[in-house]
Parts: sequence; structure tokens; C-alpha cells
Amino acid sequence: MPELPELEILVSNLRDRVKDKRLGRPIIINPRVISGDPNLLEDRIIKDVKRRGKWVLISLDKIYLAFHLRLNGYIFLLEYREPDDYDCIILPVDGEYIHFGDPRRLAQMKIVNEIESLIEELGVDPLSQDFTLEYLSKSLKKKRSNIKTFLMDQDIISGIGNTYADEILFLAKINPTRPCQSLDEEEVKSLYKSIKDILEEALKLGGTSTEEFTNLISRDKSFEPRVHRREGEACPICETPIVMIKIGGRGTYYCPKCQR
Ligand SMILES: [Zn+2]
Repeated sequence: MPELPELEILVSNLRDRVKDKRLGRPIIINPRVISGDPNLLEDRIIKDVKRRGKWVLISLDKIYLAFHLRLNGYIFLLEYREPDDYDCIILPVDGEYIHFGDPRRLAQMKIVNEIESLIEELGVDPLSQDFTLEYLSKSLKKKRSNIKTFLMDQDIISGIGNTYADEILFLAKINPTRPCQSLDEEEVKSLYKSIKDILEEALKLGGTSTEEFTNLISRDKSFEPRVHRREGEACPICETPIVMIKIGGRGTYYCPKCQR
């Protein structure tokens, strides 16, 4: 599942490739993932490509085309190839083709007149200016869950998934099972800084290389997790073996010595 840094890089690279180009007639393969009328897309110029939370937004004249990849969706920009079993829609863009699909058909494509309807269901974007220390602090006080579940709650902070949640907590030296309300002021500050630092590091390095959901991210370098999926390996700080537990059904990796 792509997390926010990967989507940010995808959006930026897609923008470089398709901005100011014209959409052709869409080739619809699986209409179930589409809401809105895809015939409205033909002949529209792509004004911009943006990200809002985990939505990839293509701005056209007066309308928006929005993609959400969910767990297994993909976006490829390719020369023409025959649709495969997983493609849902193919959008011609001046000689190239955006292939959007999902083997599990859970991804979504929406054609909307305004983007507010998409944004209302989202928490704050941690890369935006709306994500402040005060926002984080207030949100933590309201929640009764543990801190790992909190970080992955898309209604509070949008775009942090399992990998980066583990990495953020390791950098902040906070145990993932801690109740949100037990964090003191210094820990909240450290958590805030770690969220920013991990996401910025991932952005700089092109995200993690574990998923193949796009050809729009270069694979020359990638973010290397310090604890995530490293059960039994030595902690990079104290060399204690990394532990794996399940939180909310998800594998959660941490150092039992560094993270209190
Ligand atoms: Zn350690």
C-alpha cells in the first residue's frame, strides 16, 4: 500500500509528464470502480496534478478526476499495451496511456465537480501547514487508543500507514503500545518532529521500494526502514533484537529497549 511519501512523488512525476496535455477517449474495462461519467473526460486539458491526503487529483477544465489506490491499486503511465486482467480504465494522454487498476477492485476513481466532497472525510495532511504541534497535541488528548493505532487513523492524520508509523515511533523513542493520553509534553514534541523527519526523509529518498504500484517512481534509491519488518535484527542504536507484535491486526516492529 503506498503511503503519503510515495503518493507525493507519484503525483509530482505524473504532473511533469502530463500537465497541459489533452485526454483522449477513455477505454473503460471495469466500470465498477468508477463513479461519475468518464465520457466527460474526453478532450479536456490537464491543468494540474495534485495530492489531497491519499487522493491523486487531476484538475481538468471545471472538473476533477480523483484516484484512490486503497491497498492494491496502481497507476502506470505507459505506451499502449493491451488491457490486462487488472486494468479498470485506460486514459489516453497525447500518445501515452494512464493505466489505472486493482486486482481486488477496491481502488476508486471519481469524476467530481469539486474536491471538497473528497476532503471532508480526511484528517490533516502531515506535510501541510495545517499539521501543527497544537493539532497533534489536542488530537492525542481526545483519543483513547494506543499511539500506533492513532498514527494510522486516517481521520486524524491522513496518509501514514504501517511502515512509517513504526519508523516514526522508533525515531521518537515511544513504545507503540503506549496510550495516547500518557505522552508527556516532551514526547509529543518528539513525536511531532519524528513525523516530519521520517516523511521528509522518505520523500527525499523516493519512498520505500516494497510495492510495485507505479512506474512513476525511480527505483535507484529508497527509504530503508530501521525497524519495520526487521524482527530479530539488531536495533541500529542499542543492538537489542527488534520485536514484532500485532496491533490492530498489523505487524508492529519496535525496539523494546529504546522505545519506552
Ligand atoms: Zn534499541
